[in-house]
Amino acid sequence: MATVKRDYYEVLGVKRDAKPEELKRAYRKLAMEFHPDRNQGDKAAEEKFKEVGEAYSVLSDPQKRQRYDAYGHSGQQMPDFGQFSFDSAFDLFDMFFGGGRRAHGSGPQRGSDLRMSVDITFEESIFGAKRTVDVPRADTCPDCAGSGAAPGTTPHTCPDCGGSGQVRRAMQSIFGQVMNVTACPRCRGIGRLVDDPCARCRGRGLVEARKTIEVAIPAGVDGDVQVRVSGEGEAGPQGGPHGDLYLSFRVAPHPQLIRRGQDLVYELPVSVTQAVLGDRITVPTVSGETEVDLSAGTQPGRVVKIAGQGVPHLRTGRRGDQICVVRVVVPAHVSAKERKLYEELGGRDGKPVEVRRGFFDHLRDFFAPAE
Ligand SMILES: [Zn+2]
Ligand SMILES: [Zn+2]
Repeated sequence: MATVKRDYYEVLGVKRDAKPEELKRAYRKLAMEFHPDRNQGDKAAEEKFKEVGEAYSVLSDPQKRQRYDAYGHSGQQMPDFGQFSFDSAFDLFDMFFGGGRRAHGSGPQRGSDLRMSVDITFEESIFGAKRTVDVPRADTCPDCAGSGAAPGTTPHTCPDCGGSGQVRRAMQSIFGQVMNVTACPRCRGIGRLVDDPCARCRGRGLVEARKTIEVAIPAGVDGDVQVRVSGEGEAGPQGGPHGDLYLSFRVAPHPQLIRRGQDLVYELPVSVTQAVLGDRITVPTVSGETEVDLSAGTQPGRVVKIAGQGVPHLRTGRRGDQICVVRVVVPAHVSAKERKLYEELGGRDGKPVEVRRGFFDHLRDFFAPAE
């Protein structure tokens, strides 16, 4: 879902060599035009407002601007570039014009986002799964539909703010006198007052609830992945819409397989005889057992790949491999007969064995960064 980002200078409608004052002027004009308070419910305006805020937050910072000029949008992915959020657009706006967005606006507010972690099996993390999740959250009170007023009664308009939820006062800012808008202290920004509070929610408009939701766990998740379930967070006050639910996953370890990126690593223990003579060996994979052929003379640390038995990529679905690392298990105890046979093989001449390619070469191969 890559979206094409417009050039920041183009967004603000300024030349590439625009002076800080020009940037500020352009930003101020556009932010005014697209501010959510003037474009209630207009998604396109909201996007514009974000875009403008993002462009200004980068271009107004000399270091970020320099990097943007050099690297373009990709410079943003650099660790010290700083993450732009919707909030910072508002903060910039507040800095210019005073007032806070949370303090005004009489419409029902959106509820908070919720975060939960879900325990899943190793196999579910590989293949994905459908799960039901019990979400404890605040829901709109069913008795008063979130108004907080007892059923049969209605809240009345706050006389102090006339229902707007806002009070305005003149304030000095860097641009001279501006109107500062704050939440009405009497109705706390709601715009209405309740005389007879709803008994069920005690006037809060919200009740504790549990919602069971069905969640699709994507194939290939790990502990770092977050899945957003839109509109399943807490309900907003006064019947406001729900926030979002963010799910993360705790993956149970597998007894024999360890995930490494898109690959699964398996330590394949073999006997000295199997290593020397070769064998066809049954090994576990995430989708059941399979056989691998061990050639005669297999060295410890040798890697046998089972293609396509790794972890699917979250976006492409392409699976990595299972990497079997051979470990030759030397018997700690031998029977009298085995001892005799080993003695017959000889080779105890008090010198190190001559090797062409040592164990450490295999290790180096295995741990070399694979791209
Ligand atoms: Zn209620
Ligand atoms: Zn009021």
